[in-house]
Amino acid sequence: MVNKKQVLQWLQAFATEIEQNKEYLTELDAAIGDADHGINMDRGFKKVISQLTTVADQDIGSILKTVSMTLITSVGGASGPLYGTLFLRASTVATGKHELNAQELGELLQAGLDGVLQRGRAKLGDKTMVDVLSPAVVAFGQALAENMDTLAAMQQAVAAAKKGLQDTTPMLAKKGRASYLGERSVGHQDPGATSSYLMLKSLLETLE
Ligand code: ADP
Ligand code: MG
Ligand code: MG
Repeated sequence: MVNKKQVLQWLQAFATEIEQNKEYLTELDAAIGDADHGINMDRGFKKVISQLTTVADQDIGSILKTVSMTLITSVGGASGPLYGTLFLRASTVATGKHELNAQELGELLQAGLDGVLQRGRAKLGDKTMVDVLSPAVVAFGQALAENMDTLAAMQQAVAAAKKGLQDTTPMLAKKGRASYLGERSVGHQDPGATSSYLMLKSLLETLE
């Protein structure tokens, strides 16, 4: 079970992770992009946090929808619309809800991934956020099928996300700015996959 308070804690924890890893994310993006991923995400999540108190008494769906709108209007670049879509789709699963059971959390994660896939049209192996989100969603679903609870399933999801993140290093980028580099994108960890890993790790830490 994940309640509304935990959702708010998760967003706060993710914002803190982004702030602490702002330079790191930007360095990763300097190698294969335009050196702004940490700056983009930190700007967006600082704005999200500044708005959380105004929505804290609403349902989880409304909270996530506010996160989405804030990211779409303040982040820019590729990651703004992608994370914005992720949270928008996730919000639709949580409309009117003040807590989510394991099944519903799985649906929320799946909806977020589906939004990113539809918006960005990246496939698994294209060296993007999808390479972290997709294995995490699959692992979460498998864990639920094995009757694990929310925490245990999330542990499986984060382990799969970590592997997915490491797997982005040898990949050749097929989407986004990194794809302009062709072969030169090989040998670098993807910045967006890294922030997606931090997002899932923050959720796990909130549940622990
Ligand atoms: P920009 O590339 O516009 O500067 P960011 O640096 O904030 O935006 O984000 C870059 C990240 O966005 C990449 O590392 C990658 O993970 C992700 N990304 C880019 N294009 C796509 C796409 N089509 N689908 C999924 N993720 C993508
Ligand atoms: Mg960039
Ligand atoms: Mg940019």
